Amino acid sequence: MQVSILPVGEVEEEILQELSEGLRGGGLRVTLLPCQKVPSKAFNRRRKQYRGSAFLEMAGRYGGKHVLVVTDVDLYAEPLNFVFGQAEMGGRAAVISLHRLRSADRGLFLLRVMKEALHELGHNIDLSHCPDDRCVMHFSNTLEDTDRKGPGFCGECESRREGGPLWDPS
Ligand SMILES: [Zn+2]
Ligand SMILES: [Zn+2]
Repeated sequence: MQVSILPVGEVEEEILQELSEGLRGGGLRVTLLPCQKVPSKAFNRRRKQYRGSAFLEMAGRYGGKHVLVVTDVDLYAEPLNFVFGQAEMGGRAAVISLHRLRSADRGLFLLRVMKEALHELGHNIDLSHCPDDRCVMHFSNTLEDTDRKGPGFCGECESRREGGPLWDPS
């Protein structure tokens, strides 16, 4: 899988490098695009949050097989209070927010970022939410959900896709 990472807003270079390395370590081909400004029309004044779909639209304007936006702002998608990320099912665009993934534990933060990135890329290859709470395609409603699941895909999710594993660190 070929993924272009598009940083939007204030995203630290180090985490972008680490995410790229992590994804490459599982066999993905990763390109890092230059950082862009947060689209002002994405901001919802009442909620003080940003509409996730605006970032997907932004990603859609870039070339490349898959475009993963990484942003620091807090995202929402109706009817949810917030989302860790969002993606087009079977499409090219995905977005993750670092806003609610942060931890004083740097390794834990990076692992959360990896999981949410792989989850959204999983939607891009048409995987839906998985009932297995250890599978990366399990829906995360809270950080506990994110921390419980692994960065890997369960056997069921792996078998539901063609063309080999999305991410295989072994
Ligand atoms: Zn999902
Ligand atoms: Zn699964």
